Amino acid sequence: MALPLPTSLTPSKVASFKDCALAFRFSAIDRLPEPPSPHTSKGTLVHRALQLLFELAPDERTLPAALDCLDRARTELADHPEFAGLQLTPEEEATFVADAETLLRNYFRIEDPKTIHPIGLELLLEAEVGTLKLRGIIDRLELDAGRLVVTDYKTGKPPHAKYEQGRLGGVHFYAFLCERLLGRRPDRIQLLYLSEPVAIVAEPSEQSIRGLEQRTSAIWKAVERACEQEDFRPRPSGLCEWCSFRPYCPAWGGDPAKARELLPLVSA
Ligand code: SF4
Repeated sequence: MALPLPTSLTPSKVASFKDCALAFRFSAIDRLPEPPSPHTSKGTLVHRALQLLFELAPDERTLPAALDCLDRARTELADHPEFAGLQLTPEEEATFVADAETLLRNYFRIEDPKTIHPIGLELLLEAEVGTLKLRGIIDRLELDAGRLVVTDYKTGKPPHAKYEQGRLGGVHFYAFLCERLLGRRPDRIQLLYLSEPVAIVAEPSEQSIRGLEQRTSAIWKAVERACEQEDFRPRPSGLCEWCSFRPYCPAWGGDPAKARELLPLVSA
């Protein structure tokens, strides 16, 4: 019996199929819950603080205002399972908040938010390619002297130079969505790595967007084939260390069938 196809793909889901088909299946098809991690929750918090900052008038976007936005974001998100589920000790929470604050302070070393003209924040875009619905949230869409710019904030470590173009795949994906839905290709796409801090910038072209479209269609065909044949193989790598499905992974001596025991957590 064939497995049901996922109804849509995001850039991170696309990447997860290429990284490890079995982890993709657990997450995108079986929709098994993954426990919150301090790293992803910190990213959510900093993204929300930056969204609140850009809702202020340009001359109000100062560092003290950004730190206020971080406090507001913490209050807003305090009861969200992604945060409440972390169950941090007071010391761990203090470190978590200090790290988020450092990321925000670092943001000000990359650019001056007073000079940015956003036209969209946390923008949800969806487009269909054949039978596949592509969806993604653009952190910030802005106009820079009439040029359309897509910005994605990153709270993890920046990639080594030789992997930079690979990491831009997700942002090219947003450029593709913009072109499809807004009828205009962004002039610039940029990843702002707040941990260093450093910006990785690229100019999307007709070729880069068509290449992305072709690669995505090829991945979708591979997903369809894997669903039809119920064949999602593990691909052990350094990512296994962070994989929450590892106890159920045959590459690590686990039984994939037992992963369904995670499901009651969803309906609980
Ligand atoms: S532990 Fe590694 S090989 Fe197994 S599902 Fe996770 S990422 Fe894939």
